[in-house]
Amino acid sequence: MPEGDTLHRTALRLRPLLAGRLVRALDLPRRGERVTSVIGKRVESVEARGKNLLISFDDGLVLHTHMKMNGVWRGYGPGERVPGVSGNVVVVLEVDGAIAMCWSAPIVRLIRASDVDRDPHLAGLGPDPIATSFDPDEAMRRLRALDHAPLGVALMDQRAIAGIGNVWKSELLFEHRLDPFAPVARFGDDELRALLATAERRMRGGFARGTRPQRVYGRQGEPCPRCAHAITMERQGDMRRSTYWCARCQPPRVEAPA
Ligand SMILES: [Zn+2]
Repeated sequence: MPEGDTLHRTALRLRPLLAGRLVRALDLPRRGERVTSVIGKRVESVEARGKNLLISFDDGLVLHTHMKMNGVWRGYGPGERVPGVSGNVVVVLEVDGAIAMCWSAPIVRLIRASDVDRDPHLAGLGPDPIATSFDPDEAMRRLRALDHAPLGVALMDQRAIAGIGNVWKSELLFEHRLDPFAPVARFGDDELRALLATAERRMRGGFARGTRPQRVYGRQGEPCPRCAHAITMERQGDMRRSTYWCARCQPPRVEAPA
């Protein structure tokens, strides 16, 4: 499942293939659209922001894709076999010497670079733990603004922290033995700061290595690696996102710490 670490790795892979190259074609097959205005322009940058990928062109346009649950980008350099354009392909970007393709991203749009900072999908994003600019104090302030939301829902709210999905949410809360279902208000500043510090460390590690801890995620019914109690999955929030947790290691938080 694409989360912030996946997107940062995607940007890392695509950047050397695309940045600085001239665009030969940009097709959006699902819409049957060929974007001719960027042909002959240069790719300026490839950047991940939370679960979004932004590819900027030097004419001031930005291709914004959001991966949601299943979106994926792949890049192909000289001599690499490029797959055919199947029904799930949503972007084909060809530059001098390389092709990048995106499958299944539900959000694919071209916006103006000057509009990014007030774009409804991008402007409100919280600090991204993998970005060098990560500001834990700002992330903390934004988590506290969601004091009434269950911690497991607030952690995945991209306006608080950008890039955390079901996997990181489940693993981080398990590591810190925190109840996913209690509202943020029931956790102390020290606990939340420690959680954010772990998010930064673990997600950067996941980005560097291309792996994630998976001690509880996807392991419903298996024994907890700490206490052997069966791991549970429950759907959470308006989006019904899956949270995996150990009811013994992460006991209900019934009141705020004194
Ligand atoms: Zn346990």
